[in-house]
Parts: sequence; structure tokens; C-alpha cells
Amino acid sequence: MTVIRWGLVFLLIVTAGCGANSRPAEPQDAASNGGKPAQAFRRLTDAQWRERHTDEQYRVTRRKGTERPFENAYWDCEKEGVYKCVGCGQPLFSSKTKYESGTGWPSFWAPIEEQSVAARTDKSWIFTRTEVLCSRCDAHLGHVFEDGPEPTGLRYCVNSAALRLEEKLESAAGR
Ligand SMILES: [Zn+2]
Repeated sequence: MTVIRWGLVFLLIVTAGCGANSRPAEPQDAASNGGKPAQAFRRLTDAQWRERHTDEQYRVTRRKGTERPFENAYWDCEKEGVYKCVGCGQPLFSSKTKYESGTGWPSFWAPIEEQSVAARTDKSWIFTRTEVLCSRCDAHLGHVFEDGPEPTGLRYCVNSAALRLEEKLESAAGR
């Protein structure tokens, strides 16, 4: 029952997509912004990951799946904030480096910090690609390509299902 309930919560967040002002409703370890040892997440079993995620989040992040373009939560999201890992809550990308790539997936020209993502050679397709993972929990995020805009020339093509946008709520107050 709990699994189903959590599944529904995540499903709501995902389907509501960009419009959802999703406050952290995650277990306490995932809500923290860092400092948690990666081992805590690396010790989770496949069954535990499945329990923590919706089917789509699990398929993308733990089975290296790819969601459908133009039919995912953040591909055209223009809200300000930080995109965090759906697996462990680590900040991964900022809306400041997000751009419209025309691919139908959220695209960024840089991660929020160099060390937040890890890269791995992926030969599962006809072309060799560079897979991008969360450096803390090994969640599959997407791939990085060298056809992005300046200043990096990189395009981090990321699945929305691997991300959770934490909107910048205080932006109005700072003006
Ligand atoms: Zn993670």
C-alpha cells in the first residue's frame, strides 16, 4: 500500500511537471543537500530503488531507459531553480544553464558543479555515446554530446524522470 501511495505522489509530481511546485516529499536522506556519504545510496538494493521510484523513474535511472521526447516534465520548463537528482537529492543542474535544444528533453550546457555528474562510455547503441550519471547515487541521467552552445559546447541531454526541480521561490523578494 505504501508503495502504491508513494507511486501516486511521484506520479502526480511528474505529470504535473513544470507547473508543480514540488516541495521535498522525499525520505530525509534524499532531502539533504549533500554531505551524505554516497555509500548510503550505493547500498540500496534494486528492490529498494524500485520501491522509492515510480516505474518511469526506476526504468530511466536504474535501467538506463530513455523517456519520450516532448512528453516529459521539464523539456520546455523555464522556471528558475535547481534540478536535483530524483534518486538522492544531489543538485545536478541549474536553470541558468538550461536551454532549448529542440530535442524534446531538458538540455543543459553544464552541470551545476563539475563533480555532481560522472561520465561513462556507453557502447550500447550504434554510436558510442557518453553516459551521464549522478556522481552520488549512480542514477542514469542521460548523455552528453559535443553539439551544445557556448561557453562549453556541451549538451547534457537529460531525462526529466531523473530530475526533480526545486524552484527558486525567493527570486521575487530579491528584486
Ligand atoms: Zn543521485
